[in-house]
Amino acid sequence: MLGTITKIHELKESRNGNWFMRVEFRLKNGDWAKTDLCPSFRNYERWKYLLKVGVDLTGLNLKRKGEVNADSYPEVRKPNVAGHWEDTPSGGMKFVADDLVDKKVEEVEQKQIMIKGFVDKGNGYFKVAGKQEKYYNVYVNENGYATCDCPAFHYKNEYCKHVKIIKKHLDELAKKKGSRKTN
Ligand SMILES: [Zn+2]
Repeated sequence: MLGTITKIHELKESRNGNWFMRVEFRLKNGDWAKTDLCPSFRNYERWKYLLKVGVDLTGLNLKRKGEVNADSYPEVRKPNVAGHWEDTPSGGMKFVADDLVDKKVEEVEQKQIMIKGFVDKGNGYFKVAGKQEKYYNVYVNENGYATCDCPAFHYKNEYCKHVKIIKKHLDELAKKKGSRKTN
């Protein structure tokens, strides 16, 4: 689906603690739609070269009415804003708009890690701060089983403190969700 970016909001913290940027669109059929992009999520890569008000995009999928799926593969076909083309590793070309609103992933991650000690990378992946400016990657699968790539997890047969931090975070989220349902 075709659409034009009409507004890009400042980063905000969501209920589950992820920082996100709301982007608004006017779709080709005249409808309004939005999507929330987390710069720490992998699908942000698909958007960051295109984040500019006025850019016309193709490839927008709707999750539901009024909501563009952040997992869409947005593309610029005919650039209507200033920018340039770059080769992609797959042999194609991608358009990179000038003066992007891109929030640097590293900066956003750094801030979140400073405040909370970890950052949610989406799909069960977390980056957790360890000692001496080291970071470890925790993954929690759908059944709640977690792994960490730190030495403690590897050598001891028990959950390390990085996994415990994420488990606690996920438990709190689950509780919040539960209490919201009963209200
Ligand atoms: Zn660990």
